[in-house]
Amino acid sequence: CIYRVVGRFSLALFDFAKFRASDSFSAFIYVNKNFPNKSLSSGFVYSNASANNSCLLFVLQNQGRTDDMTTVADKKIKFKNIRAIIFDLDGVLTNTSEYHYKAWKMLADELNIYFDRKINEKLRGIPRRESLEIMLGNKKVSEEEKIRLMEIKNKYYVDFLRQMTPNDILPGVLNLLREIRQRGIKIGIGSSSRNADIVIEKLNLGSFVDAVSDGCSVDKHKPAPDLFCHCAANLKTAPQNAVVVEDAEAGVEAGLNGGFWVVGLGPYERVGKAHIVFPDFADVHLNDFIGD
Ligand code: CA
Repeated sequence: CIYRVVGRFSLALFDFAKFRASDSFSAFIYVNKNFPNKSLSSGFVYSNASANNSCLLFVLQNQGRTDDMTTVADKKIKFKNIRAIIFDLDGVLTNTSEYHYKAWKMLADELNIYFDRKINEKLRGIPRRESLEIMLGNKKVSEEEKIRLMEIKNKYYVDFLRQMTPNDILPGVLNLLREIRQRGIKIGIGSSSRNADIVIEKLNLGSFVDAVSDGCSVDKHKPAPDLFCHCAANLKTAPQNAVVVEDAEAGVEAGLNGGFWVVGLGPYERVGKAHIVFPDFADVHLNDFIGD
């Protein structure tokens, strides 16, 4: 099959129905015949192409199921001249969301407030103060008390972080970091967390990491690109020679805003704006997204 795509080679996500109807396209996607069973009409086609690098990346999402997502890429369509890869920490190299839940749960129990995993879901990606207000529900507390409660929650959370071990590294990550090291590509961490150093230490990843930029490094947070730019500067690498790996929508936008190549990890609806998307790093190798 041949489908016309946006000729400007800018980042875009297409609803397939609109995609076919548009007449403003001038380049072509060749849908790989290795995937005859994928029903394009019910999914999305995503393409990004850089005119500079003459590359095209394809991500096929089948039936809206991210676990069925297939990356269609040949040797010509990978990031080139990459000197550094900057990883977000939480949700990319490890997963601390369970510890946030446990810390909020302990605090809620002390306050005799009902709190469960369903309520916890509402806190995903929400700053600490708003999270506290959701947890408190109808309970009214003073500003002073709110600050005290947030400090208690953070203390519980950090106590959990201190119990982390290398077993908390997500599948596929260690192999990928070793491959990056072997290629002589630098590794950075760009995390909004103020606890990034503790996590890196507990995961025993220090020997892999060349630079860490965290929540204390910059004033403007994601989707502002500042955190990743700060890290790239420490790695002495220009954004066009660096990759950002993110699992959050705001993080993907931060990478794009900074002019980085962006790998999105997770559901397509969340990270589909990235140049290339993987459900997670299990079975992903460096040469799946990095060319020569
Ligand atoms: Ca994250």
